[in-house]
Amino acid sequence: MSDDEEAVLAKWGSWDALYTYLARLVRELSPVVCGHHTPVPTVEVKPTWLARGLLGGQHSGADYEPAEGQRPAVIGLFPAVLTDEALLRLVVAHELVHHWEHLGAQGADELPSSDAAATIIAARFTNAQRERRWRSGHSSYFIAKASSVAATLGVQLRQLLFS
Ligand SMILES: [Zn+2]
Repeated sequence: MSDDEEAVLAKWGSWDALYTYLARLVRELSPVVCGHHTPVPTVEVKPTWLARGLLGGQHSGADYEPAEGQRPAVIGLFPAVLTDEALLRLVVAHELVHHWEHLGAQGADELPSSDAAATIIAARFTNAQRERRWRSGHSSYFIAKASSVAATLGVQLRQLLFS
């Protein structure tokens, strides 16, 4: 077992306890972010080497895979975010915004565009190429929805956008 997996076990006591917590967290947050009639994604813990491999060295806390055939949508979580409950909440909420968008971004047209988000995003990226890459995975709908979710959950938008 890797060091970061050991840290996860030390925090939760067992993988079962962690998965029980994660299932409860996603069941709590999914209706808040996606509405009550949206299928709730399953949650999977993924090994750290996968997070490093995916985006050419860029570390990632989580990823989202849409449903495919009989397989439900999956939120994949990497050990780096599994020892901090506040961070975990942000990361799961972020991935649920991807889920919401993938399922058709219901209500997106009613969301106000967020000046606060524009300021936060401009401050985050000093490198135009990095900003373009981030924006390629995070549409204006995603950003507007994240702004509304951050307000509902009482978390910082900057953290929700970039977790
Ligand atoms: Zn994202």
